[in-house]
Amino acid sequence: MGLLYKSTRNSSKTVAASYAILKGLAEDGGLFVPTEIPRLSVSMDELKDKSYKETAFAVMKEYLTDFTEEELRNCIEKAYDSKFDTEEIAPLVKAGGAYYLELYHGATIAFKDMALSILPHLMTTAAKKNQVKNQIVILTATSGDTGKAALAGFADVKGTKIIVFYPKDGVSRIQELQMVTQKGENTSVVAIHGNFDNAQSGVKAMFEDKKLAEELGASGYQFSSANSINIGRLVPQIVYYVYAYAKLLKNKEIAQGEPINVTVPTGNFGNILAAYYAKKMGVPIEKLICASNENKVLYDFFQTGKYDRNREFVLTTSPSMDILISSNLERLIYFLTGEDDTENRRMMEELRTKGVYEITDQMKERLADFAAGFASEDQVKQAIHEMYNSTGYVLDPHTAVAASVYEEYRSKTGDERKTVIASTASPYKFAGSVLEAIDSGSTETDEFKRIDRLRELSGMEIPKAVEEIRNAPILHTRECDVQKMKETVKEILGVS
Ligand SMILES: *Cc1c(COP(=O)(O)O)cnc(C)c1O
Repeated sequence: MGLLYKSTRNSSKTVAASYAILKGLAEDGGLFVPTEIPRLSVSMDELKDKSYKETAFAVMKEYLTDFTEEELRNCIEKAYDSKFDTEEIAPLVKAGGAYYLELYHGATIAFKDMALSILPHLMTTAAKKNQVKNQIVILTATSGDTGKAALAGFADVKGTKIIVFYPKDGVSRIQELQMVTQKGENTSVVAIHGNFDNAQSGVKAMFEDKKLAEELGASGYQFSSANSINIGRLVPQIVYYVYAYAKLLKNKEIAQGEPINVTVPTGNFGNILAAYYAKKMGVPIEKLICASNENKVLYDFFQTGKYDRNREFVLTTSPSMDILISSNLERLIYFLTGEDDTENRRMMEELRTKGVYEITDQMKERLADFAAGFASEDQVKQAIHEMYNSTGYVLDPHTAVAASVYEEYRSKTGDERKTVIASTASPYKFAGSVLEAIDSGSTETDEFKRIDRLRELSGMEIPKAVEEIRNAPILHTRECDVQKMKETVKEILGVS
């Protein structure tokens, strides 16, 4: 019997992995979780000589048990190929007393590529396995990076359409250009007059809208999600934490079984949750350090046990972390309740209606795996500046949030364990903010001139993803109000 999945809001019903991937979100609005977290069935000693693809197979086969070996290997082959600019896929770079796990070598130069380059293949395989005849409509809300990575992954994939909503003034210029220049007959991009949380809530509401589902069904469509709540995104993200540990071992940076820490710049809580799963699978990870920017709702949660989204939303230089509702946290909350779906449902309802919930003292004790911190905009700038000055290594603002939080954690606790920092975007994606930090005299405002300047200062090659959009035509100009997202989707699909 393979591993099954259940919803965090109704645990009585179980489904296979392929079904969970296809659905994205459970019908009750909950998130799919495996009925138990599997252990790695190969030793780190064996893993240390494996390629990224081989590691991906070793990890993912434990979760996607209704995929055949051939199906899974196929998906992995198609995902981690020359779309990445290095065969290592996720290089580990030692700089300034930590190990940076560079997750930005894929097609859209942010860590979302790690999962979104494989999700379309997992999804089309899952559709075949479940005899789906409908066209799959991928509906996605993005804080900047998911959108482009999903568009790139799904563009011209047969049997699918993709619609991406992004906050009009909430993404970087490069992020916006990447999205609005996207090619592909089946792609649509919509700027909403609101923030990321509005976009995400709007998309979630459409997923839960039974009447809409019926209307779509009648026209031969069904929704699925490429957002980080999809188990088909979470599982591929576990891979690189296993890979990083094995690499440290191979490079003799750590001894067999030596515990390490992991620091993750966090928004929707997907990346760090994958690290938590890696730990549960048996990777010797001690602390999971959750790093927030000025939208520090998670930091406050870890401090007090109270999750409170009722606060001002701040636009920062790390837009992919400008989030007040961290969707994937629900999976952790569910764990903390001892997998009590009623209790979890109650708290998520409180979040929806009042914007706040509080966990019990007993649940708080189970948070010992985590530490948390946040970085102000000044601290982010300083972290980029100091790293560049002392080592020449360039951090993007998201990674700099993590670097800053990690330094503070280390000096406060004296914990000197080797630490892997998830490096989630190429500095070229946020050239303006990066330049301000390392070249304070710079007054350049043209995005591409900034990029050229960054090239001079860093000596890093300009990624293909950036060169491609330099002169690309704008193909998407649609905008809508937050209240009109549903109408917009119907209009795009031609469903009345
Ligand atoms: C999405 C993203 C994050 C946040 O990751 P979550 O899984 O949402 O916590 C951090 N940095 C970058 C560059 C991202 O694109």
